[in-house]
Amino acid sequence: MIKVSEVSQQVQPSLTRKLFNLAKQYDNVIDFTLGDPDVQPHQDIKDAGCRAIQQGKTRYSQNAGLLELRQVITQYYKRKEGFEFDPLKEIIVTVGAMEGLYLALLSLLDPEDEVIIPAPYYVNYVQMVKMCHAVPVVVDNPNADALSFNVEDVEKSITPKTRAIIINTPSNPSGKIIPWEKIEQLAQIAKEHDLVVIADEVYKCLIYDQTLFKSIVSIEGMRERTILINSLSKEFCMTGWRIGYVIAPEEVVATMTKLQENVVACAPLPSQYAAIQALSGEENYSRNMVDIFTKRRNVLVEGIQTIPLLKCTPPDATFYLMVDISATGMKSEEFAIELLKSVQVALVPGITYGVSCDNYVRIAFTLDEEKIREGIKRIASFVNQLKK
Ligand code: PMP
Repeated sequence: MIKVSEVSQQVQPSLTRKLFNLAKQYDNVIDFTLGDPDVQPHQDIKDAGCRAIQQGKTRYSQNAGLLELRQVITQYYKRKEGFEFDPLKEIIVTVGAMEGLYLALLSLLDPEDEVIIPAPYYVNYVQMVKMCHAVPVVVDNPNADALSFNVEDVEKSITPKTRAIIINTPSNPSGKIIPWEKIEQLAQIAKEHDLVVIADEVYKCLIYDQTLFKSIVSIEGMRERTILINSLSKEFCMTGWRIGYVIAPEEVVATMTKLQENVVACAPLPSQYAAIQALSGEENYSRNMVDIFTKRRNVLVEGIQTIPLLKCTPPDATFYLMVDISATGMKSEEFAIELLKSVQVALVPGITYGVSCDNYVRIAFTLDEEKIREGIKRIASFVNQLKK
């Protein structure tokens, strides 16, 4: 029997996948587990990808990605957020945000280094830090504001080994934007303790009700210590195209590019051409997504709010809704498993995102309105059974 590494044994499959896989054992499941939207990318984007394939643009690109794409990303940031970056030195195109996160961590971390991860957090952060032989330090305080963290707890967890903090705003799973005062305080802490901030902003494209979003990188003194992670997965519903990018100080991008050569060489070339189309600004291809998900969010929130024992408030962003199940007396994993067995609705137990979330379950509203309504009906019948 081949002995696998200790580090790989520390990495466990997530509860998200557990529920997703369990759901496959049932027929006619309403599956709210994965953040993988059912909406199709705009036809122009698909055409650009197909055209690249037909024209034989299917070879390797530069490790950092096509320069044309990096230029388009620069223009996109200038148009949308008013920042300017150097496409030659400060941008790398990656295989989704996930590979961007991984290479960023790999570029920063030595064995035993610590990375602070405030809860609720995206599970892969913890695993990726472990994969770098470093130590994830989860900041998870049940007494923090609901589905948020205390900045004081972040500061208290800093040690001489701390290298970075990962923030995810808007957040998966909470659907909230981290309030600006907290971002300013985190920036202050990062500067005082010479820490890097990895800012995962893949959901800033999906913000409702015209709520404003500002990136931590816009704060004075943060540009030189921020690694911005972004992706086309959510913005243009291109999860399977595996295309993302990272904007960071040039020493980090240079290191990531060197590592990229040894991991995947480059992001898939047809996807890079599709990304050029998506980000080109010819049309606001992502506008439609916000409209679609606003409607779904409203249907879901109104429906869940009519169910006794369940509570929720509308998310500011993302396609996730956290539902407070504390009045059912069940913990999140038990609730999720019983719900699946009893009415074939799959969702993710809140414990996946930190112990402070064990009174919640996460619904990804990446299904159409009809399925969402059916899901609500089934959840209501399950909860009404519990009440009896
Ligand atoms: N960050 C967060 C917070 C996410 O929720 C996801 C996807 N679920 C990712 C990163 C990864 O996105 P990608 O498909 O671009 O790798």
